[in-house]
Amino acid sequence: MGTITRARTRGFAGGDAPERWPRPRSAPRSDRLAAPVDSVQGVGPTIARRLAKLGLATVEDALWQRPRRYEEPAPTKHISELFGDEEAVIEVVVRSATSRRRGRLKILSARVADETGEIRATWFNQPWLEAKLVPGTVLRIRGRANRHGFAVSSYDLDGDAETGDLAPVYPATEDVAQKTLRNVHAQALGFVRDVGDDLPAVVLAAERLPLRADALAALHRPRSLPEAEAGRNRLAFDELLVLRLALLRTAATRASASAQRLGAPGELLDRYRASLPFTLTADQERAMTEIDADLDREVPMQRLLQGDVGSGKTVVALHALLRAVEVGRQGALMAPTETLAEQHFLTIDELCAPLGVRVTLLTSSLRAKEHAAARRLIASGDAQIVVGTHALIEKEVDFSDLAVAVVDEQHRFGVAQRTALVEGRSPHVLHLTATPIPRTLALTVYGDLDVSELALPPADRRPIVTAWVTDDRSSEAYSRLCRHLDDGRQAYVVCPLIEASETRVARAAEEEAERLRTAELRSYRVGCLHGRLRPAERRAVMASFKARELDVLVSTTVIEVGVDVPNATIMIVQEADRFGLAQLHQLRGRVGRGAEQSYCLLVSRPREELSETASDRLDAMVATTDGFELAERDLEIRGEGQLLGARQSGYSDLRFVRLRRDQDLLERARDVSRALPDEGLLAPAVDRLLGDADHLGES
Ligand code: ADP
Ligand code: MG
Repeated sequence: MGTITRARTRGFAGGDAPERWPRPRSAPRSDRLAAPVDSVQGVGPTIARRLAKLGLATVEDALWQRPRRYEEPAPTKHISELFGDEEAVIEVVVRSATSRRRGRLKILSARVADETGEIRATWFNQPWLEAKLVPGTVLRIRGRANRHGFAVSSYDLDGDAETGDLAPVYPATEDVAQKTLRNVHAQALGFVRDVGDDLPAVVLAAERLPLRADALAALHRPRSLPEAEAGRNRLAFDELLVLRLALLRTAATRASASAQRLGAPGELLDRYRASLPFTLTADQERAMTEIDADLDREVPMQRLLQGDVGSGKTVVALHALLRAVEVGRQGALMAPTETLAEQHFLTIDELCAPLGVRVTLLTSSLRAKEHAAARRLIASGDAQIVVGTHALIEKEVDFSDLAVAVVDEQHRFGVAQRTALVEGRSPHVLHLTATPIPRTLALTVYGDLDVSELALPPADRRPIVTAWVTDDRSSEAYSRLCRHLDDGRQAYVVCPLIEASETRVARAAEEEAERLRTAELRSYRVGCLHGRLRPAERRAVMASFKARELDVLVSTTVIEVGVDVPNATIMIVQEADRFGLAQLHQLRGRVGRGAEQSYCLLVSRPREELSETASDRLDAMVATTDGFELAERDLEIRGEGQLLGARQSGYSDLRFVRLRRDQDLLERARDVSRALPDEGLLAPAVDRLLGDADHLGES
C-alpha cells in the first residue's frame, strides 16, 4: 500500500493552523482498564469467555458498551395487586425453590410470598441462583405477572439496587445474565476517569460537550434520561468526527487519481438490454444513466449503488462491467464470500455467454492449477469479466487492463481491502450495498461518494409474509412448505446457528437434511449446502437447485447473501432466535424474488423462554420487511452499528450514533472535521479506523 497523503488543513476557528500540531504526551495507559475482564470480582474464566463473545474482553470494553435502554420506573406492589402484564416490583420472602431443564433452557422457580399472597417466580438460565434462594430469604424482584406466575427481569440480592429506576439494561444473552453484566459495568465504572479525552478542549468548549469520562458515567449511571442522552450524544460525536477525519484522509489520496474515459455505451450494451427477460425499473434506468455519466469522466467513478436485498443491483452492476468490456478492457467484481462470488459468477456467466463475453471465477479455494489458469486469463486479458473474492486483491493477481471494479456488499470489507483493489490502478469503482441508509448519512459515512438508489423493487414483487412460529407448531410450518412444493415451488430450510467449528456446522446441516429426507420432506428432493463442500460440489448443488432438480435446499447461513432462485417462495428458519437481525433480513431476502407471494417462517421457542433481545428481533422481523427500518431497530437492540463495518480491523464503527436522530450532530462533526488537523490528538483513532491499511497482504 502506498503512503497516505494527509490533507492540508485550514485553521481552526478562523486562525491559521500550525504546519504540525503538537502531539500530546502519550497518556499513561491505564492498566486497570486494559486488564482482562476476569480481573473483575465475580468473573471467572467461564464467564470471561462468554463475555468475550459479547465483545467484552477487557474492563474498558465494558465502558464502551451501550445500554440498550434503561429500566422505566415501575411501581412497588403487593402480590394481590398484580394485574395483567404490567411491570412491577414486589418485596417477598422465599418459601421454596426448585429448578428443572427444558432442552437447553434452565428454569428456576421459587414460591415467594408477601403478606397479601403467594406467587411462583421464574428465572431463566441462572441456575447458580438456586443455592441463594433458601427459604426465608428476603428479595425485591422486578418483572411481569403472566399466566405461569411472575417472570423475573431483575432482582436485588445482597443489597445491590438492581431493581431501581433507570438501571441500565445491557444486551444480556442466554449465557450471560443481566446481573453479571451490571456487576462488570459497575466495577469498570470505578475506573472511568482513566479513559482520558482526545478531543481538543477548544472543541469541547465550542460544541458544549461534556468530558468523555462524564459522558460515559452518564451513559451507565444516568440520573435522568436527558442526562443519558447527553452522554450518548458526546460519544456519538466522537465516532462521527473520527469517521469524517478518516474520510478526509482517504479523499485526499483519491483526488490525485485519474482514469480513462469510456465514452458512451454502444452496441454490446444494446444487446445486453435486449437479452434481459424483463424491463428495467425506472430506478435501474436512472442508476445506469448516472453510471454512464461517471464513466465518461477522467475522475475515477466512486459511486455507491444502494438497494435493499432483491432490488435488482446485479443487472446494474453488470451494465457497468460490460462498459469496460465494450472498449476492450476488463471489469472485476469482488464479493465478500466464496458462495456469493460463485453465485455472481453463475448469474453473470449465464447473462454474458449469449453476448460472447468471457467470464472467469477467481477464489482462493480453486485448486492451484485452476488458480494459475485463471490468473493467466486475467493477465492476458482473455478474461473480460473477473468475478472473485479477496483473492482478486492478492499480489500475484495481475490484471491486463482493469477499467471498472464493482465491490459488492462493501460493508463486509475493511476500508483497507476496499482501497486495495483500486490501489495503483485507478479504475472506475461501483460499490454495492444492501444496508440501506439515508443519502445524507451515506455521504457522511462513505465520504464523498455519489449515491444511486434502487428505492423500489421490481414492480411485480409482493412483500414477504413473515410469521413467528413456536416450535411446538413447527410441523404446521413444514406442511405449509410442502404445499408450496406441491405447487411446483421451491424452498429453503435454514439450519440453526451453532457456535462450533465450520466442520461441525456442516455435519449438523447434513444430519438435518438427512433427517428431513426421512421425515417431514420424505417425498421431495432435498439438497444440502454448507461451507465445507468443495467449490465444485457447492456449484453443482446450487446449479441443480436453480435448474429445479432439487425441491428444497437445506442450508447453513452460506445462502445468506446473493443466492438467487426466484422460484423459491418459502423459507423456514430453524431456531430463528439465534440469528442476528441483519442476518435474518439477508436470509429472508432469498425468497420473494419472483412475482409469487413468498413466506418466511421463523421457528423458535416461545416468547417466555427467550431473552428480551431475541424476542425483539423476531418481533421486528414480523413487523416489517423494510431493510432501513430493520437496520435502525438493530442498532437500537444491539446498540451498535456496522455500517462501515470495518469488522476486520476490530473497530466497531458506530456504536452510539442513532441514524435518524443524529443528522444534526453529523453536520457539526463534519464542520469540526474540516477545521481539525489530521495530525492532531485524534490521529491514533483515525489510524485505528483505517486499520490495517498498511499491513494488507501480511495477514
Ligand atoms: P440484489 O439487489 O439483492 O442484488 P438481484 O440483482 O439479485 O438483487 O435481483 C433480484 C432478482 O430480481 C433477480 O432474480 C433478478 O433477475 C430480478 N430482477 C432484477 N431486475 C428486475 C426487473 N427490472 N424486473 C424483474 N425482475 C428483476
Ligand atoms: Mg445481490
